[in-house]
Amino acid sequence: MNLHVPSSTAVALDPAIQKFLDAGPKFLIDGKLVQAQAGATIDIRNPATAQVVAKVPEARAEDIDLAVKAARRAFDQGPWSRLTPAERGKLVYKLGEIIERHAEEFAQLEALDNGKPISESRAADLPIAYNTFYYMAGWATKIAGATLSPSNAGEYHAYTLREPIGVVGQIIPWNFPLMMAAWKLAPALAAGCTVVLKAAEDTPLSALRLAQLIVDEADFPAGVINIVTGYGETAGAALAAHPQVDKIAFTGSTEVGKLIVKAAAGSLKRVTLELGGKAPTIVFPDADLDRAIPGVTLGSFFAQGQVCVATTRIYAHKSIFDKLIEGVRDAASKIRVGPGLDTATQMGPLVSATQLKRVSGYVQSGRDEGAHVQVGGEGLTGSDGYFLKPTILTNANPAMKVVREEIFGPVVVAQAFDDTALDKLAAEANDTEYGLAASVWTQNASIAHKMAKRIKAGTIWINCHHVFDPVLPFGGYKQSGWGRENGAEAIENYLETKAVTMAL
Ligand code: ADP
Repeated sequence: MNLHVPSSTAVALDPAIQKFLDAGPKFLIDGKLVQAQAGATIDIRNPATAQVVAKVPEARAEDIDLAVKAARRAFDQGPWSRLTPAERGKLVYKLGEIIERHAEEFAQLEALDNGKPISESRAADLPIAYNTFYYMAGWATKIAGATLSPSNAGEYHAYTLREPIGVVGQIIPWNFPLMMAAWKLAPALAAGCTVVLKAAEDTPLSALRLAQLIVDEADFPAGVINIVTGYGETAGAALAAHPQVDKIAFTGSTEVGKLIVKAAAGSLKRVTLELGGKAPTIVFPDADLDRAIPGVTLGSFFAQGQVCVATTRIYAHKSIFDKLIEGVRDAASKIRVGPGLDTATQMGPLVSATQLKRVSGYVQSGRDEGAHVQVGGEGLTGSDGYFLKPTILTNANPAMKVVREEIFGPVVVAQAFDDTALDKLAAEANDTEYGLAASVWTQNASIAHKMAKRIKAGTIWINCHHVFDPVLPFGGYKQSGWGRENGAEAIENYLETKAVTMAL
Protein backbone atom coordinates (compact mmCIF):
# COMPACT_ATOMS: atom_id res chain seq x y z
CA MET A 1 0.00 0.00 0.00
CA ASN A 2 3.01 2.27 -0.24
CA LEU A 3 1.96 5.34 -2.15
CA HIS A 4 5.39 6.82 -2.54
CA VAL A 5 6.78 5.53 -5.74
CA PRO A 6 10.13 3.94 -4.91
CA SER A 7 12.60 5.32 -7.42
CA SER A 8 13.67 1.83 -8.44
CA THR A 9 10.16 0.92 -9.58
CA ALA A 10 8.84 4.24 -10.94
CA VAL A 11 8.69 4.46 -14.72
CA ALA A 12 10.14 7.58 -16.30
CA LEU A 13 7.97 8.70 -19.20
CA ASP A 14 9.40 7.92 -22.61
CA PRO A 15 10.69 11.18 -24.19
CA ALA A 16 8.37 10.67 -27.17
CA ILE A 17 5.38 10.61 -24.82
CA GLN A 18 6.55 13.63 -22.88
CA LYS A 19 6.94 15.48 -26.17
CA PHE A 20 3.47 14.39 -27.28
CA LEU A 21 1.93 15.65 -24.03
CA ASP A 22 3.86 18.92 -24.03
CA ALA A 23 3.03 19.70 -27.65
CA GLY A 24 -0.67 19.15 -26.98
CA PRO A 25 -2.50 16.15 -28.45
CA LYS A 26 -4.66 16.86 -31.52
CA PHE A 27 -7.55 15.34 -33.43
CA LEU A 28 -7.10 13.44 -36.65
CA ILE A 29 -9.60 14.75 -39.20
CA ASP A 30 -9.28 14.24 -42.95
CA GLY A 31 -5.66 13.10 -42.71
CA LYS A 32 -4.51 16.11 -40.67
CA LEU A 33 -3.80 16.73 -36.99
CA VAL A 34 -6.02 19.62 -35.94
CA GLN A 35 -7.36 21.52 -32.92
CA ALA A 36 -11.04 21.84 -32.07
CA GLN A 37 -12.63 24.62 -34.12
CA ALA A 38 -13.94 26.46 -31.07
CA GLY A 39 -10.56 26.06 -29.37
CA ALA A 40 -12.11 24.38 -26.32
CA THR A 41 -9.99 21.93 -24.34
CA ILE A 42 -10.44 19.23 -21.70
CA ASP A 43 -8.04 18.82 -18.76
CA ILE A 44 -6.70 15.30 -18.48
CA ARG A 45 -5.75 14.18 -14.98
CA ASN A 46 -3.51 11.44 -13.68
CA PRO A 47 -5.94 9.51 -11.43
CA ALA A 48 -3.09 8.59 -9.06
CA THR A 49 -2.43 12.24 -8.16
CA ALA A 50 -5.45 14.20 -9.49
CA GLN A 51 -2.89 16.43 -11.27
CA VAL A 52 -3.54 17.71 -14.80
CA VAL A 53 -1.07 16.04 -17.18
CA ALA A 54 -2.36 17.27 -20.52
CA LYS A 55 -4.95 19.39 -22.26
CA VAL A 56 -6.73 17.85 -25.22
CA PRO A 57 -9.05 19.52 -27.72
CA GLU A 58 -12.76 19.16 -27.03
CA ALA A 59 -14.88 18.26 -30.04
CA ARG A 60 -18.25 19.93 -30.44
CA ALA A 61 -20.91 19.27 -33.07
CA GLU A 62 -19.01 21.27 -35.73
CA ASP A 63 -15.87 19.13 -35.31
CA ILE A 64 -17.92 15.94 -35.48
CA ASP A 65 -19.52 17.27 -38.66
CA LEU A 66 -16.11 17.89 -40.26
CA ALA A 67 -14.92 14.43 -39.31
CA VAL A 68 -18.07 12.74 -40.59
CA LYS A 69 -17.88 14.64 -43.88
CA ALA A 70 -14.25 13.58 -44.31
CA ALA A 71 -15.18 9.95 -43.63
CA ARG A 72 -18.12 10.29 -46.04
CA ARG A 73 -15.88 11.60 -48.84
CA ALA A 74 -13.27 8.93 -48.20
CA PHE A 75 -15.93 6.26 -48.44
CA ASP A 76 -17.99 7.62 -51.35
CA GLN A 77 -15.26 9.07 -53.55
CA GLY A 78 -11.88 8.26 -52.11
CA PRO A 79 -9.33 5.69 -53.09
CA TRP A 80 -10.28 3.61 -50.05
CA SER A 81 -13.22 1.83 -51.71
CA ARG A 82 -11.07 1.01 -54.72
CA LEU A 83 -8.27 -0.67 -52.77
CA THR A 84 -8.12 -4.43 -53.12
CA PRO A 85 -8.95 -6.47 -50.02
CA ALA A 86 -5.27 -7.46 -49.78
CA GLU A 87 -4.16 -3.82 -49.82
CA ARG A 88 -6.73 -3.00 -47.14
CA GLY A 89 -5.62 -5.96 -45.03
CA LYS A 90 -1.99 -4.87 -45.28
CA LEU A 91 -2.82 -1.39 -43.99
CA VAL A 92 -4.73 -2.84 -41.06
CA TYR A 93 -1.84 -5.21 -40.29
CA LYS A 94 0.63 -2.36 -40.50
CA LEU A 95 -1.38 -0.39 -37.96
CA GLY A 96 -0.92 -3.34 -35.58
CA GLU A 97 2.82 -3.21 -36.23
CA ILE A 98 2.91 0.51 -35.48
CA ILE A 99 1.19 -0.11 -32.14
CA GLU A 100 3.53 -2.99 -31.31
CA ARG A 101 6.58 -0.89 -32.18
CA HIS A 102 5.35 1.86 -29.83
CA ALA A 103 3.92 -0.53 -27.24
CA GLU A 104 5.89 0.75 -24.27
CA GLU A 105 4.87 4.34 -24.98
CA PHE A 106 1.22 3.32 -25.18
CA ALA A 107 1.51 1.23 -22.00
CA GLN A 108 2.81 4.32 -20.19
CA LEU A 109 0.04 6.52 -21.55
CA GLU A 110 -2.63 4.06 -20.38
CA ALA A 111 -1.11 3.96 -16.88
CA LEU A 112 -0.92 7.74 -16.76
CA ASP A 113 -4.36 8.43 -18.18
CA ASN A 114 -6.54 5.57 -16.92
CA GLY A 115 -4.51 4.80 -13.78
CA LYS A 116 -4.11 1.10 -14.49
CA PRO A 117 -0.86 -0.61 -13.42
CA ILE A 118 1.75 -0.47 -16.15
CA SER A 119 2.42 -4.18 -15.61
CA GLU A 120 -1.18 -4.75 -16.72
CA SER A 121 -1.15 -2.39 -19.69
CA ARG A 122 2.10 -4.01 -20.89
CA ALA A 123 0.80 -7.56 -20.45
CA ALA A 124 -2.84 -7.17 -21.45
CA ASP A 125 -3.99 -3.93 -23.10
CA LEU A 126 -1.14 -3.66 -25.57
CA PRO A 127 -0.86 -7.24 -26.85
CA ILE A 128 -4.64 -7.43 -27.18
CA ALA A 129 -4.67 -4.14 -29.09
CA TYR A 130 -2.05 -5.03 -31.71
CA ASN A 131 -3.14 -8.67 -31.96
CA THR A 132 -6.64 -7.44 -32.79
CA PHE A 133 -5.25 -5.60 -35.83
CA TYR A 134 -3.21 -8.66 -36.87
CA TYR A 135 -6.25 -10.93 -36.56
CA MET A 136 -8.72 -8.59 -38.28
CA ALA A 137 -6.26 -7.83 -41.12
CA GLY A 138 -6.69 -11.44 -42.24
CA TRP A 139 -10.45 -11.04 -42.58
CA ALA A 140 -10.12 -8.34 -45.25
CA THR A 141 -9.40 -11.03 -47.86
CA LYS A 142 -11.93 -13.53 -46.56
CA ILE A 143 -15.20 -11.63 -46.84
CA ALA A 144 -17.41 -13.66 -49.15
CA GLY A 145 -21.01 -13.93 -50.28
CA ALA A 146 -22.78 -17.10 -51.39
CA THR A 147 -24.38 -18.50 -54.53
CA LEU A 148 -28.06 -19.25 -53.97
CA SER A 149 -30.73 -21.35 -55.66
CA PRO A 150 -34.18 -19.69 -55.77
CA SER A 151 -37.09 -22.13 -56.13
CA ASN A 152 -39.08 -19.84 -58.44
CA ALA A 153 -40.13 -21.15 -61.85
CA GLY A 154 -37.47 -20.44 -64.44
CA GLU A 155 -33.72 -20.39 -64.24
CA TYR A 156 -31.76 -17.89 -62.21
CA HIS A 157 -28.26 -17.05 -61.22
CA ALA A 158 -28.42 -15.59 -57.70
CA TYR A 159 -25.68 -14.59 -55.31
CA THR A 160 -24.98 -12.31 -52.39
CA LEU A 161 -22.48 -9.49 -52.16
CA ARG A 162 -21.06 -8.47 -48.79
CA GLU A 163 -20.45 -4.73 -48.82
CA PRO A 164 -19.07 -2.37 -46.19
CA ILE A 165 -21.84 -0.45 -44.41
CA GLY A 166 -20.17 2.90 -45.03
CA VAL A 167 -19.30 5.58 -42.49
CA VAL A 168 -19.13 4.25 -38.95
CA GLY A 169 -19.27 6.34 -35.77
CA GLN A 170 -17.50 4.59 -32.92
CA ILE A 171 -17.83 5.67 -29.30
CA ILE A 172 -15.60 4.05 -26.71
CA PRO A 173 -15.26 4.07 -22.91
CA TRP A 174 -12.34 4.79 -20.58
CA ASN A 175 -11.56 1.41 -19.06
CA PHE A 176 -9.34 -0.06 -21.82
CA PRO A 177 -8.80 3.02 -23.98
CA LEU A 178 -6.47 1.69 -26.69
CA MET A 179 -7.85 -1.83 -26.65
CA MET A 180 -11.39 -0.52 -27.13
CA ALA A 181 -10.15 1.63 -30.02
CA ALA A 182 -8.57 -1.49 -31.55
CA TRP A 183 -11.73 -3.58 -31.14
CA LYS A 184 -13.62 -0.87 -33.00
CA LEU A 185 -11.17 0.28 -35.67
CA ALA A 186 -9.69 -3.04 -36.80
CA PRO A 187 -12.85 -4.86 -37.96
CA ALA A 188 -14.44 -1.73 -39.43
CA LEU A 189 -11.35 -1.00 -41.54
CA ALA A 190 -10.89 -4.64 -42.55
CA ALA A 191 -14.53 -4.64 -43.75
CA GLY A 192 -13.87 -1.51 -45.84
CA CYS A 193 -15.73 1.11 -43.80
CA THR A 194 -14.44 4.56 -42.92
CA VAL A 195 -14.51 5.67 -39.32
CA VAL A 196 -15.02 8.52 -36.89
CA LEU A 197 -13.81 7.31 -33.49
CA LYS A 198 -14.69 9.31 -30.37
CA ALA A 199 -12.43 8.47 -27.45
CA ALA A 200 -13.74 8.86 -23.90
CA GLU A 201 -13.27 12.30 -22.40
CA ASP A 202 -11.53 10.82 -19.33
CA THR A 203 -8.92 8.82 -21.28
CA PRO A 204 -8.29 10.13 -24.79
CA LEU A 205 -4.46 10.14 -24.74
CA SER A 206 -3.70 6.77 -26.32
CA ALA A 207 -6.26 7.27 -29.10
CA LEU A 208 -4.83 10.73 -29.86
CA ARG A 209 -1.29 9.34 -29.84
CA LEU A 210 -2.50 6.69 -32.28
CA ALA A 211 -3.90 9.51 -34.41
CA GLN A 212 -0.45 11.09 -34.52
CA LEU A 213 1.23 7.80 -35.44
CA ILE A 214 -1.34 7.20 -38.19
CA VAL A 215 -0.30 10.51 -39.75
CA ASP A 216 3.43 9.90 -39.23
CA GLU A 217 3.76 6.21 -39.99
CA ALA A 218 0.67 4.67 -41.63
CA ASP A 219 -0.52 5.02 -45.23
CA PHE A 220 -4.29 5.28 -44.91
CA PRO A 221 -5.88 7.67 -47.39
CA ALA A 222 -7.10 10.91 -45.80
CA GLY A 223 -10.49 10.67 -44.12
CA VAL A 224 -10.52 6.88 -43.68
CA ILE A 225 -9.71 7.12 -39.97
CA ASN A 226 -10.79 10.19 -38.00
CA ILE A 227 -10.14 10.34 -34.26
CA VAL A 228 -11.61 12.92 -31.89
CA THR A 229 -12.52 13.27 -28.27
CA GLY A 230 -15.14 15.27 -26.44
CA TYR A 231 -17.95 14.92 -23.96
CA GLY A 232 -20.65 12.32 -24.46
CA GLU A 233 -23.65 14.62 -24.31
CA THR A 234 -22.19 16.91 -26.98
CA ALA A 235 -19.64 15.18 -29.24
CA GLY A 236 -20.95 11.64 -28.67
CA ALA A 237 -24.57 12.67 -29.13
CA ALA A 238 -23.73 14.63 -32.31
CA LEU A 239 -22.02 11.57 -33.78
CA ALA A 240 -24.86 9.22 -32.83
CA ALA A 241 -27.44 11.55 -34.43
CA HIS A 242 -25.44 12.58 -37.52
CA PRO A 243 -27.50 11.82 -40.65
CA GLN A 244 -24.44 10.95 -42.75
CA VAL A 245 -23.27 8.23 -40.37
CA ASP A 246 -24.44 4.79 -41.48
CA LYS A 247 -23.69 2.89 -38.32
CA ILE A 248 -22.85 3.46 -34.67
CA ALA A 249 -20.73 1.04 -32.69
CA PHE A 250 -20.80 1.87 -29.00
CA THR A 251 -19.21 0.51 -25.85
CA GLY A 252 -20.26 1.97 -22.52
CA SER A 253 -23.05 1.96 -19.99
CA THR A 254 -26.47 0.45 -20.66
CA GLU A 255 -28.02 3.81 -19.81
CA VAL A 256 -26.08 5.61 -22.55
CA GLY A 257 -26.59 2.65 -24.91
CA LYS A 258 -30.32 3.38 -24.77
CA LEU A 259 -29.68 7.05 -25.60
CA ILE A 260 -27.58 5.96 -28.58
CA VAL A 261 -30.44 3.82 -29.89
CA LYS A 262 -32.80 6.79 -29.64
CA ALA A 263 -30.33 9.15 -31.34
CA ALA A 264 -29.67 6.63 -34.12
CA ALA A 265 -33.38 6.16 -34.77
CA GLY A 266 -33.59 9.44 -36.69
CA SER A 267 -31.84 7.96 -39.73
CA LEU A 268 -32.31 4.31 -38.71
CA LYS A 269 -28.58 3.76 -38.46
CA ARG A 270 -27.31 0.30 -37.79
CA VAL A 271 -26.31 0.02 -34.15
CA THR A 272 -24.15 -2.41 -32.20
CA LEU A 273 -23.78 -2.02 -28.46
CA GLU A 274 -21.48 -3.52 -25.86
CA LEU A 275 -22.95 -2.48 -22.53
CA GLY A 276 -22.92 -3.22 -18.83
CA GLY A 277 -22.65 -6.52 -17.00
CA LYS A 278 -23.05 -8.14 -13.61
CA ALA A 279 -21.08 -11.34 -14.09
CA PRO A 280 -21.72 -14.20 -11.71
CA THR A 281 -18.96 -16.63 -10.80
CA ILE A 282 -20.19 -19.97 -9.50
CA VAL A 283 -17.85 -22.05 -7.38
CA PHE A 284 -18.95 -25.68 -6.99
CA PRO A 285 -17.97 -27.83 -3.99
CA ASP A 286 -15.48 -29.82 -6.08
CA ALA A 287 -13.68 -26.74 -7.47
CA ASP A 288 -9.90 -26.70 -7.32
CA LEU A 289 -9.57 -23.84 -4.85
CA ASP A 290 -5.88 -23.42 -5.60
CA ARG A 291 -7.01 -22.20 -9.01
CA ALA A 292 -10.36 -20.71 -8.06
CA ILE A 293 -8.97 -18.37 -5.36
CA PRO A 294 -6.47 -16.56 -7.62
CA GLY A 295 -8.96 -16.77 -10.49
CA VAL A 296 -11.78 -15.12 -8.56
CA THR A 297 -9.35 -12.52 -7.20
CA LEU A 298 -8.21 -11.66 -10.71
CA GLY A 299 -11.80 -11.71 -11.97
CA SER A 300 -12.84 -9.22 -9.30
CA PHE A 301 -9.92 -6.80 -9.17
CA PHE A 302 -8.20 -6.82 -12.58
CA ALA A 303 -8.27 -3.28 -14.00
CA GLN A 304 -9.60 -2.01 -10.64
CA GLY A 305 -12.77 -4.00 -11.31
CA GLN A 306 -13.67 -1.41 -13.96
CA VAL A 307 -14.51 -4.10 -16.44
CA CYS A 308 -17.96 -4.94 -17.76
CA VAL A 309 -17.17 -8.66 -17.40
CA ALA A 310 -15.60 -8.42 -13.92
CA THR A 311 -16.58 -11.02 -11.35
CA THR A 312 -19.20 -9.11 -9.41
CA ARG A 313 -21.35 -11.81 -7.84
CA ILE A 314 -19.64 -14.79 -6.21
CA TYR A 315 -21.91 -17.78 -5.61
CA ALA A 316 -19.94 -20.39 -3.68
CA HIS A 317 -21.21 -23.66 -2.23
CA LYS A 318 -21.56 -23.42 1.54
CA SER A 319 -19.09 -26.30 2.08
CA ILE A 320 -16.25 -24.27 0.58
CA PHE A 321 -17.60 -20.73 1.01
CA ASP A 322 -15.49 -19.78 4.04
CA LYS A 323 -12.31 -21.24 2.58
CA LEU A 324 -12.83 -19.49 -0.75
CA ILE A 325 -13.67 -16.13 0.78
CA GLU A 326 -10.77 -16.33 3.23
CA GLY A 327 -8.47 -17.10 0.32
CA VAL A 328 -9.76 -14.25 -1.85
CA ARG A 329 -9.72 -11.88 1.14
CA ASP A 330 -6.13 -12.81 1.91
CA ALA A 331 -5.10 -12.34 -1.72
CA ALA A 332 -7.02 -9.05 -1.97
CA SER A 333 -5.40 -7.64 1.15
CA LYS A 334 -1.96 -8.33 -0.36
CA ILE A 335 -2.67 -6.54 -3.65
CA ARG A 336 -0.26 -3.61 -3.88
CA VAL A 337 -2.41 -0.55 -4.56
CA GLY A 338 -0.55 2.44 -5.96
CA PRO A 339 0.15 4.68 -8.95
CA GLY A 340 -0.16 3.09 -12.36
CA LEU A 341 3.30 4.22 -13.37
CA ASP A 342 4.96 2.20 -10.58
CA THR A 343 6.02 -1.22 -11.85
CA ALA A 344 5.39 -2.65 -8.36
CA THR A 345 1.73 -1.58 -8.42
CA GLN A 346 -0.82 -4.36 -8.81
CA MET A 347 -3.96 -2.23 -8.63
CA GLY A 348 -4.23 1.44 -9.53
CA PRO A 349 -6.71 4.18 -8.66
CA LEU A 350 -10.19 4.40 -10.15
CA VAL A 351 -10.36 6.49 -13.28
CA SER A 352 -11.87 9.69 -11.88
CA ALA A 353 -13.23 11.44 -8.81
CA THR A 354 -16.75 10.84 -10.16
CA GLN A 355 -16.13 7.13 -10.47
CA LEU A 356 -14.63 6.93 -6.97
CA LYS A 357 -17.67 8.67 -5.54
CA ARG A 358 -20.03 6.38 -7.42
CA VAL A 359 -18.29 3.15 -6.37
CA SER A 360 -17.85 4.31 -2.76
CA GLY A 361 -21.58 5.05 -2.75
CA TYR A 362 -22.25 1.42 -3.62
CA VAL A 363 -20.04 0.20 -0.78
CA GLN A 364 -22.01 2.43 1.59
CA SER A 365 -25.29 1.17 0.20
CA GLY A 366 -24.10 -2.43 0.80
CA ARG A 367 -23.27 -1.52 4.41
CA ASP A 368 -26.64 0.19 4.86
CA GLU A 369 -28.45 -2.87 3.55
CA GLY A 370 -26.62 -5.19 5.94
CA ALA A 371 -23.70 -6.56 3.92
CA HIS A 372 -20.43 -7.17 5.79
CA VAL A 373 -17.24 -5.60 4.49
CA GLN A 374 -14.69 -8.44 4.68
CA VAL A 375 -11.81 -6.38 3.38
CA GLY A 376 -11.30 -2.97 1.75
CA GLY A 377 -14.14 -0.48 1.54
CA GLU A 378 -11.81 2.48 2.01
CA GLY A 379 -9.33 4.59 0.10
CA LEU A 380 -5.65 5.17 0.72
CA THR A 381 -4.74 7.73 3.32
CA GLY A 382 -2.28 10.43 2.32
CA SER A 383 -3.17 10.47 -1.35
CA ASP A 384 -5.17 12.83 -3.55
CA GLY A 385 -5.59 9.99 -6.05
CA TYR A 386 -8.86 8.17 -6.62
CA PHE A 387 -7.93 4.99 -4.74
CA LEU A 388 -10.27 2.37 -3.34
CA LYS A 389 -8.87 -0.82 -1.84
CA PRO A 390 -10.10 -4.19 -3.16
CA THR A 391 -13.41 -4.78 -1.42
CA ILE A 392 -15.36 -7.96 -0.63
CA LEU A 393 -18.90 -7.84 0.70
CA THR A 394 -20.56 -10.88 2.30
CA ASN A 395 -23.91 -11.46 3.99
CA ALA A 396 -25.50 -10.28 0.76
CA ASN A 397 -28.91 -11.19 -0.57
CA PRO A 398 -30.46 -10.97 -4.04
CA ALA A 399 -32.52 -7.88 -3.23
CA MET A 400 -29.54 -5.66 -2.40
CA LYS A 401 -28.53 -2.86 -4.76
CA VAL A 402 -24.94 -4.13 -4.72
CA VAL A 403 -26.16 -7.49 -6.02
CA ARG A 404 -28.47 -6.04 -8.67
CA GLU A 405 -26.65 -3.02 -10.12
CA GLU A 406 -23.38 -2.73 -11.99
CA ILE A 407 -20.79 -1.19 -9.64
CA PHE A 408 -17.85 -0.96 -12.08
CA GLY A 409 -15.16 -0.90 -9.43
CA PRO A 410 -13.13 -3.22 -7.19
CA VAL A 411 -16.13 -4.45 -5.23
CA VAL A 412 -17.36 -8.05 -5.28
CA VAL A 413 -20.37 -9.43 -3.46
CA ALA A 414 -20.41 -13.02 -2.19
CA GLN A 415 -23.33 -15.32 -1.41
CA ALA A 416 -23.36 -19.00 -0.37
CA PHE A 417 -25.59 -21.65 -1.94
CA ASP A 418 -26.73 -24.95 -0.57
CA ASP A 419 -28.81 -26.55 -3.31
CA THR A 420 -26.66 -27.75 -6.22
CA ALA A 421 -29.62 -28.22 -8.59
CA LEU A 422 -28.23 -26.66 -11.77
CA ASP A 423 -31.47 -25.09 -12.95
CA LYS A 424 -31.91 -23.32 -9.64
CA LEU A 425 -28.34 -22.07 -9.63
CA ALA A 426 -28.59 -20.91 -13.21
CA ALA A 427 -31.81 -19.05 -12.35
CA GLU A 428 -29.91 -17.16 -9.65
CA ALA A 429 -27.03 -16.42 -11.99
CA ASN A 430 -29.53 -15.22 -14.59
CA ASP A 431 -31.48 -13.08 -12.14
CA THR A 432 -30.13 -9.85 -13.64
CA GLU A 433 -31.00 -7.57 -16.52
CA TYR A 434 -27.47 -8.13 -17.84
CA GLY A 435 -25.97 -11.09 -19.69
CA LEU A 436 -22.40 -10.34 -20.61
CA ALA A 437 -20.22 -12.96 -18.92
CA ALA A 438 -20.04 -15.63 -16.23
CA SER A 439 -17.52 -18.08 -14.88
CA VAL A 440 -17.94 -21.55 -13.45
CA TRP A 441 -15.42 -23.35 -11.25
CA THR A 442 -15.71 -27.14 -11.04
CA GLN A 443 -13.66 -30.21 -11.89
CA ASN A 444 -16.75 -31.95 -13.24
CA ALA A 445 -16.77 -31.35 -17.00
CA SER A 446 -20.41 -32.37 -17.30
CA ILE A 447 -21.54 -29.81 -14.71
CA ALA A 448 -19.34 -27.15 -16.34
CA HIS A 449 -20.87 -27.57 -19.78
CA LYS A 450 -24.41 -27.95 -18.45
CA MET A 451 -23.98 -24.62 -16.68
CA ALA A 452 -22.47 -23.08 -19.81
CA LYS A 453 -25.70 -23.94 -21.61
CA ARG A 454 -27.96 -22.66 -18.85
CA ILE A 455 -26.38 -19.27 -18.19
CA LYS A 456 -27.66 -16.49 -20.43
CA ALA A 457 -24.48 -14.59 -21.21
CA GLY A 458 -22.28 -13.95 -24.24
CA THR A 459 -19.10 -15.26 -22.58
CA ILE A 460 -18.76 -18.26 -20.29
CA TRP A 461 -15.40 -19.02 -18.72
CA ILE A 462 -14.78 -22.42 -17.15
CA ASN A 463 -12.03 -22.58 -14.52
CA CYS A 464 -10.76 -19.20 -15.65
CA HIS A 465 -11.90 -15.58 -15.92
CA HIS A 466 -10.82 -12.65 -18.08
CA VAL A 467 -9.47 -14.69 -20.97
CA PHE A 468 -9.68 -12.52 -24.09
CA ASP A 469 -8.56 -13.21 -27.62
CA PRO A 470 -9.43 -11.59 -30.95
CA VAL A 471 -10.84 -14.92 -32.12
CA LEU A 472 -13.45 -15.11 -29.33
CA PRO A 473 -16.74 -13.33 -30.07
CA PHE A 474 -17.56 -10.91 -27.27
CA GLY A 475 -20.87 -9.29 -26.43
CA GLY A 476 -24.02 -9.54 -24.45
CA TYR A 477 -27.39 -11.17 -24.03
CA LYS A 478 -30.30 -9.11 -22.68
CA GLN A 479 -29.44 -5.52 -21.70
CA SER A 480 -25.71 -6.15 -22.13
CA GLY A 481 -25.92 -5.26 -25.77
CA TRP A 482 -26.53 -5.95 -29.43
CA GLY A 483 -24.04 -7.80 -31.61
CA ARG A 484 -20.59 -9.23 -31.00
CA GLU A 485 -17.10 -7.81 -31.23
CA ASN A 486 -14.05 -9.91 -32.12
CA GLY A 487 -14.09 -13.10 -34.15
CA ALA A 488 -15.81 -13.38 -37.52
CA GLU A 489 -18.88 -11.77 -35.92
CA ALA A 490 -17.06 -8.45 -35.63
CA ILE A 491 -16.69 -8.25 -39.39
CA GLU A 492 -20.43 -8.96 -39.79
CA ASN A 493 -21.11 -5.81 -37.74
CA TYR A 494 -19.69 -3.71 -40.57
CA LEU A 495 -21.23 -5.39 -43.61
CA GLU A 496 -24.48 -5.17 -45.52
CA THR A 497 -25.75 -8.10 -47.59
CA LYS A 498 -27.01 -7.55 -51.10
CA ALA A 499 -28.90 -10.23 -53.03
CA VAL A 500 -28.30 -10.16 -56.79
CA THR A 501 -30.67 -12.19 -58.95
CA MET A 502 -30.44 -12.61 -62.71
CA ALA A 503 -33.04 -14.39 -64.83
CA LEU A 504 -31.18 -16.61 -67.26
P1 ADP B 1 -19.14 5.06 -18.36
O1 ADP B 1 -20.32 4.91 -17.47
O2 ADP B 1 -18.30 3.85 -18.47
O3 ADP B 1 -18.41 6.37 -18.26
P2 ADP B 1 -20.56 6.01 -20.57
O4 ADP B 1 -21.57 5.17 -21.21
O5 ADP B 1 -20.99 7.20 -19.79
O6 ADP B 1 -19.71 5.02 -19.78
O7 ADP B 1 -19.48 6.53 -21.62
C1 ADP B 1 -18.97 5.74 -22.64
C2 ADP B 1 -18.75 6.61 -23.85
O8 ADP B 1 -20.01 7.14 -24.25
C3 ADP B 1 -17.84 7.80 -23.63
O9 ADP B 1 -17.06 8.01 -24.80
C4 ADP B 1 -18.83 8.95 -23.46
O10 ADP B 1 -18.31 10.19 -23.85
C5 ADP B 1 -19.92 8.54 -24.41
N1 ADP B 1 -21.25 9.11 -24.11
C6 ADP B 1 -21.75 9.46 -22.91
N2 ADP B 1 -22.99 9.98 -23.05
C7 ADP B 1 -23.29 9.96 -24.37
C8 ADP B 1 -24.41 10.34 -25.16
N3 ADP B 1 -25.50 10.86 -24.60
N4 ADP B 1 -24.35 10.15 -26.50
C9 ADP B 1 -23.26 9.60 -27.07
N5 ADP B 1 -22.17 9.23 -26.38
C10 ADP B 1 -22.17 9.39 -25.05
